Formats: sequence, C-alpha cells, structure tokens
Amino acid sequence: MTYPKMKPCPECNDADNLNIFNYDGWRHVECVKCNYLGPGCASFAWAIRHHNNDMDARAAIRSSPDHGKVGET
Ligand SMILES: [Zn+2]
Repeated sequence: MTYPKMKPCPECNDADNLNIFNYDGWRHVECVKCNYLGPGCASFAWAIRHHNNDMDARAAIRSSPDHGKVGET
C-alpha cells in the first residue's frame, strides 16, 4: 500500500521535518521543527489526507482575492 504524498508544514513550510506519530492509537502528522500537529486519525493514510486537506484549506484562504479586502468590489 502506498500512502498519499504529504504536503509541507502549514506553519513553517518545511517538508523534511514532517513525521507521523501515534498517540494513543491516533496517527498525527507532526512537524518536529515547529511542533505543528495535524488532525488525528485512526489510519496512517487518512492522517496524511486530513493534513493535506487542512493545508489546501489554508492555502485557499491565503490565495483568495477577497481575503482582507472587505468593502472592495
Ligand atoms: Zn513546521
């Protein structure tokens, strides 16, 4: 089984310091550089997917043309 490719850390943008840790049966993507902790999940692959989704959501907010431009058309 192959796992989805992990996106870089949303906090420090580092892709080399991401690891998956098991806390009480929950897998989390964690950045050992800045201590970012991704969403917990029961499986390895889903912990990565949730982390990636989180990353996409943050990127979408950042790149949205409406972000921070309240009142402009
Ligand atoms: Zn980080």
